[in-house]
Formats: sequence, structure tokens, C-alpha cells
Amino acid sequence: MTAESDGIKIAISFNGNIVNTQLLKQEVTRQYPDFFSCCDSDIVCQKLLLELVKQKDFASAVRCVMQSLDGAFSVTGILGTGDFFAFKDPHGIKPLCAGHSPDGKTLAFSSETASLDINGFIRDFELEPGELVTVSGSGFRRKQLIENPRKAFCAFEYAYFARPDSRFNGKYVYEIREDFGRNLVKEYPDIVKAADVILSVPETGDDPAMGVHEASGLRWERASRRHRYVTERAFILLNNERFSTIDRKVNILGSKVEGKRVIVTEDSIVRGDTTKIIIEKLRKAGAKRVYMFVTFPRIIGPCFYGIDMSTYGQLIGSRHNSVEIGKIIGADAVCYQSIDALVRATGESKTSLCLACVTGNYPTPLAQEMADKMKVKFLNGYEEKGRIYETEETSSQAGGKAN
Ligand code: SF4
Repeated sequence: MTAESDGIKIAISFNGNIVNTQLLKQEVTRQYPDFFSCCDSDIVCQKLLLELVKQKDFASAVRCVMQSLDGAFSVTGILGTGDFFAFKDPHGIKPLCAGHSPDGKTLAFSSETASLDINGFIRDFELEPGELVTVSGSGFRRKQLIENPRKAFCAFEYAYFARPDSRFNGKYVYEIREDFGRNLVKEYPDIVKAADVILSVPETGDDPAMGVHEASGLRWERASRRHRYVTERAFILLNNERFSTIDRKVNILGSKVEGKRVIVTEDSIVRGDTTKIIIEKLRKAGAKRVYMFVTFPRIIGPCFYGIDMSTYGQLIGSRHNSVEIGKIIGADAVCYQSIDALVRATGESKTSLCLACVTGNYPTPLAQEMADKMKVKFLNGYEEKGRIYETEETSSQAGGKAN
């Protein structure tokens, strides 16, 4: 996104999602009446410009932006003067790291370490929540703008979103996912005893399958194969597209599961329809039993921070427990990893992760307020009309600041 005013030019890139966009948009429009965009990245860019025009120095402008936004934001950008910078929200919900080229002449920011690796760069550090990093001739200059931020790194990054070849806290996401698989074996010994073989839903189910295989000794059959050229993410597609995409995306090697009791490793169950189709395929291929091993705990509430599962209505776990979910999707058992086991495997503490979609406790006040209000309505039969933070009735009433 780019913006320009009063001789100041900026360009930013943005990872995250802002919850109080309507309020911010009103503020931006008061200053720039021609501004019409509803896109949160655009609004963040305009808000930063507005503060750069008002404040005496760059750090004060970024601090004001951090204090005004409710949500997740990892931002990198460049000023018209050529100054390069990056900053992260006071909860550090999204990843953002810094690195350098082997000759030290080029500095870079990246959401994940994988993109530093593939460009031959060396990772230097992960930005802290509430930190601003600027680039000068002598390297990175780090400045903590918000004191005592409450860290709330997205736990779903570990189970689904991040690349397995990225590292958080020095550990590959792949290794953490293997631990998730080992945890599931410990948590469900009776199911392990009753199973013949492991199968994974490619690709995020592959890493925990390795952990299940190692801890249980069961054979891991690579009997579910993903179509190389169907690359859409099924869970963000429209209903009719989703069904045909999942159907084309995963193929089962029938004779490998025929007559078998199968443990299927999967990263998460959002709506449940992806899993349901895969189970139907397995049954058709002759699987005798299907046990789902799911690394991310049951998702009970929407995400406000950039993962597109933003209503209660779309989440099968918001209305049903694991036994009911098993019946709906046709599994003999649905075995979720517990929250405690997941947290342990990440090497973080419960208080340093965002677990809002599995606990209902949101790290930012406005998201909590909106989630609570909508939950009451939803449980009373209300049908949500879109993303909660974009619906008039919740977002226009709320005006909290991030803390
Ligand atoms: S609500 Fe869930 S998906 Fe969203 S940031 Fe928090 S942990 Fe991640």
C-alpha cells in the first residue's frame, strides 16, 4: 500500500487483520476526505501517514499507530527518503523476523525464516511485540515502543499456517508438528492399540504423522496423495467450489487402506466438510475404521486476526463436541490434541500464545467484546451475516483501544 501527503511518501506491506477498521476509517476520512477504501492494509497505511504528518518523529508516529489499532499487524515499509523499517503489534500475533545477506550488504524482513533461507539470507532475530526496527547504514536499530506488551503469538501458525521449514524459537515448525503427533499417541493409547495403519491428510497432516508413526510403531502409509496442480486452500473457498476442490485435491490409494483400521492425521477441523469428504473416500476404498487425530484443539470461536474463520456459524466446533463432530463427519472417533500438550510442544507458555479460537479468550479488548456479543446472539439462534468485525452492529458500537 502507498500513501502521500504534505511531502511525505510511504509504502508498506502488511500481514494481519485489524478489528477496529471502521473507527480508524472515520478518523482517516476526516483528515483525507477523498479516502474511500475499506481494506485494512490501506487504512493502516493512511493512519501511519496521518501520524507521520502530525508527530514530531518517526517512532512517536509508529507508537501512536500501535496504540490505535486493535488486531494483528506485522508491518514492513519504506519512506520516500529511502528509510526502511518494520514493526509488530504489541501482542506479536503474527511472525516477523529480520536477517542479512552473507556479505552483510543487504538487510531484510520476512514473516518466516523460510524465505530468508531460500534467498540465502541469515536470520538475525524475531521482532518483539511492540518493537520498531529501522535500518541505517550500520545495520538494524531496535526500539521497544510499547513497554510490557502481552505476547500472544498465534498458536495456529504451528499447526497449520507456517511453513514446516520455518523456525520459531530456533525449532523447525516441522519438528513441533512431529511432537504434536507424539502427543496424540500419548493422549489416545486405546485408539492407537485399535489401529492398523496411519494415513495423513497432505500436507500439514504429514509432519504429525511422522510423530505418530515413531511413537506408536504403526506403519505410515503414504496412501493419500495431493494433486500437484490443485493449489487452492479449500477452507477459504465458497461452498460449491470447496467440495469440488477437495474432491480433486486428494486421492486415496485404495488397496492400502482396504479392510484396515486407519488413524488419519489432520491439522485442524474448521467447517468439517474437508474431513468429511476424505472420510467418505476412505470408506469407499474399504477402510474398516477411521480415527481422526487432529493436532489443533477444537476450534470453538472465530479468529479476528487474519485467519479466515470469522463467524461462529461456519465452525463445526462452536456447536458440537468431538463425539458429535465424529458422527457428523462419519469418523469412528475424533481425537483432538489437548491445549496443554500443544502449548508444551511449542516451547512457549500459555500466556504468551493467542489461543482465542480454542479458548474464547481474546488478547485484544475489542475482539473480546465483539466475540462475546456475537456468541450470545449466535447461541440464541441468530444467523451471522458476514465476518463479525465487518458487521455494522458489532463494529460500530465498539471503540476500544489495543492494550
Ligand atoms: S484466534 Fe486462533 S487463528 Fe486467530 S490468531 Fe488466535 S490462535 Fe491464531
